[in-house]
Amino acid sequence: TGESGWRWDKAVCRFCGTGCGVMVATQNDKIIAVKGDPAAPVNKGLNCIKGYFLAKIMYGSDRLTQPLLRVNANGEFDKKGKFQPVSWERAFDVMSDKFKETYGKNGPTSVGIFGSGQYTIHEGYASLKLMKGGFRSNNIDPNARHCMASAVAGFMQTFGIDEPAGCYDDIELTDTIVTWGANMSEMHPILWSRVSDRKLTNKAKVKVVNLSTYTNRTSDLADIEIIFRPNTDLAIWNYIAREIVYNAPESIDWKYVKENTVFATSWVDTGYGMRNNPNHPKFRESEKDTVAKEVAKKVSSLEAPALAPFGYQTGETMKMTHNATAGENWVISFEEFKRGLAPYTLDYVASVAKGNPDEDIETFKKKLKALADLYIEKNRKVVSFWTMGMNQHTRGTWVNSQSYMVHMLLGKQSKPGSGAFSLTGQPSACGTAREVGTFSHRLPADMVVANPKHRDVTEKIWKLPEGTLNGVPGSHFVQIMRDLEDGKIKWAWVQVNNPWQDTANANHWIKAAREMDNFIVVSDAYPGISAKVGDLILPSAMIYEKWGGYGNAERRTQQWRQQVTPVGQAMGDLWQTMEFSKRFTLAEVWKGWKLPNGTELPDVLDHAKAMGYKPTDTLFEVLFANTEARSYKWPDPIGKGFYNTESGGDKRNVLGSDGKPFKGYGFFVHKYIWEEYRKFGLGHGHDLADFDTYHRVRGLKWPVVNGKETQWRFNAKYDPYAKKTGRDFAFYGEFSKVIPQGGLEGPDLTKPKIDLHNKAKIFIHPYMDPPEIPSKEYPLWLCTGRVLEHWHSGTMTMRVPELYRAVPEALCYMHPDTAKDMEVKDGQLVWVESRRGKVKARVETRGRNRPPKSLVYVPWFDEKVFINKVCLDATCPISKQTDFKKCAVKVYKA
Ligand code: SF4
Repeated sequence: TGESGWRWDKAVCRFCGTGCGVMVATQNDKIIAVKGDPAAPVNKGLNCIKGYFLAKIMYGSDRLTQPLLRVNANGEFDKKGKFQPVSWERAFDVMSDKFKETYGKNGPTSVGIFGSGQYTIHEGYASLKLMKGGFRSNNIDPNARHCMASAVAGFMQTFGIDEPAGCYDDIELTDTIVTWGANMSEMHPILWSRVSDRKLTNKAKVKVVNLSTYTNRTSDLADIEIIFRPNTDLAIWNYIAREIVYNAPESIDWKYVKENTVFATSWVDTGYGMRNNPNHPKFRESEKDTVAKEVAKKVSSLEAPALAPFGYQTGETMKMTHNATAGENWVISFEEFKRGLAPYTLDYVASVAKGNPDEDIETFKKKLKALADLYIEKNRKVVSFWTMGMNQHTRGTWVNSQSYMVHMLLGKQSKPGSGAFSLTGQPSACGTAREVGTFSHRLPADMVVANPKHRDVTEKIWKLPEGTLNGVPGSHFVQIMRDLEDGKIKWAWVQVNNPWQDTANANHWIKAAREMDNFIVVSDAYPGISAKVGDLILPSAMIYEKWGGYGNAERRTQQWRQQVTPVGQAMGDLWQTMEFSKRFTLAEVWKGWKLPNGTELPDVLDHAKAMGYKPTDTLFEVLFANTEARSYKWPDPIGKGFYNTESGGDKRNVLGSDGKPFKGYGFFVHKYIWEEYRKFGLGHGHDLADFDTYHRVRGLKWPVVNGKETQWRFNAKYDPYAKKTGRDFAFYGEFSKVIPQGGLEGPDLTKPKIDLHNKAKIFIHPYMDPPEIPSKEYPLWLCTGRVLEHWHSGTMTMRVPELYRAVPEALCYMHPDTAKDMEVKDGQLVWVESRRGKVKARVETRGRNRPPKSLVYVPWFDEKVFINKVCLDATCPISKQTDFKKCAVKVYKA
């Protein structure tokens, strides 16, 4: 057959949040082929182009294979030195010495980890446990902050529990698919193949609508394409709600609304989360323009009608508070809710939202009306999908909650074929960033560090002395960058991400990180931009070189086995975290600390002794080798024993397709970590199955109760938790109060007193202009995103020859007339320049992305066309997610 000697096994794709199942073939300790897994329910044997080349991402010629440290001519560590290979022992020596130097002087807030939505669940859990339980620092936050923090905040505010109610089967069950800021055909191609199949086999009945700021491949299948002005999706949601409430009140599902929801608003103007303090010593010249405008922001004539119910008029100065918390939240009456919607007439919203200057307003209005009619049509099922277009938004939290507003008014939420459905970009943004809780304010299973009860539960599961956990939320992803600039964080570790290519206004943050007196460790598989920002590079094992698990966008948890030995001296991130933990004794980390905000963390060593720990015990012994794990012999501390030792470990259920057992300890460590982790969710609506089950099946959607997955949450026909309440629907999330700094954990809706048990919120929020809009000097909008062939910052896919050849560089997509005006032709170079920086890119006017005259689109995968230098680092003040989707630029011939 040509396949003799190959061993096939099931695994999961490394890339997007779709979560496709794959089959990987190994021979001679190398991955030699990958194909779609026919038994995988998500993709049913299909892969997209990236998935087919998974094997090749691991074997790029410049794969990092040994630790590299910046040293001077004498071989000593020197921040200005050149990278030289060092042993793992030396790497950990320098890394822990630097950590102790900083931590010993400045305590838990002086260190940080940039985590990831690409961590395996096991890796994220171990890093969270080491930081929060070991070092008592909450400064760990995933790059998922950039990709779905607004979705999390929207879920928490609306339902009090995170992640979508529905599942991908909604695609086959629905009549209408509406994409909002989600170019699914390129970003979630396998899901798009399911959408295409649904549409093309039911052409008359099934409608597809694509809302975007530019024409893209998703529009090719759409019955209606709506090109809107950046930032105005919130106004469009409000228009649809207005249409329901004022013009089609009979469409409101009053039974659903009354039994399951309350009306609410969390409206308070909280600014844009930029470093916008002109008195800050590092306040940048380039930002003054934008910020001056923002600080003294006057209500624009476009905003005035939308803000009128909240007391603002044209020209009035608004309160703008940098990084204010989520503000208060109020339960309001239906009449108040209705009044809030009053300004969002078709005329007003069309005048604000029309995004294509060439389209006449009447045509645009007809499209908006047709969209509203599809939502409203009785018995028509509707699924609304979105990703970064709605999440990467300075009003990201608000626009997320507005989607539920429309679906819940109509009773089209949490039902087969109907619901608002937030997709994720990264493979385990759900499984690791959200469910494990690697955010700076979170703990596993939607718990938060600020809640004493949640800390208590966690300390018990982790067998930590009472009072070990720090109740002050840590610095989020963007704040860790700021803390590095301010010298508050002096030691940082980058795990499974590329933060300095991923961040907006990147030049500024790279310079800040390199100039300050700090020590930065970067674990990576390839030398990307962030590795070069680091002082120590640790070579990481890649996807099938380790055991792992991911959680996808439909709550499906999937696990895979290690298939091959990592290349060179590369080691998995889990191993790195555990190995580092061996360098610290309890006496060094569990003494009393005074935090900069005055909070005292108690000395817990006496408690620890009473629990049988010794001050000389290492964090490794206490956090990772305790309880059940103690009965197993652990592998040699440095080396490949973690992966290859055949002795020890339980080998049940770990036979490969060739009938031979997989290799030793990696299996056991992962099993032990999993079984501990899943204790958090059992009985709390986050139930996961056991380790062995996941190695038998193609994933399960949580909550998994009595071995059965849950298709539609909150719906008593499908969800055992909802069923327990005796109602048809029950939104059973726990509502916690607003968390200072994190701001994500949902509103304090306890005033006035009202029965909120099992109820979701129907929010009203006003439309507001974004912080930076085109002007005479910077006349165009810039939007950034991805392309089908490349993953994120391109460090993996740009090393696959086939994918590189398909799309070798990022292009500047623009309207032919825009190119003509600046006298450039396709393939010629232009500068794309903002107040923060500029990049050169080739012009493309006929390609897959076709912007209106007012906008240019540049993907961000290409470090040579480093578009994040140009983007604005403004964030949603509630979710702290960055808005990569809009800023003002000028474009001119290079
Ligand atoms: Fe599936 Fe996404 Fe992987 Fe493509 S990149 S195979 S759509 S998981």
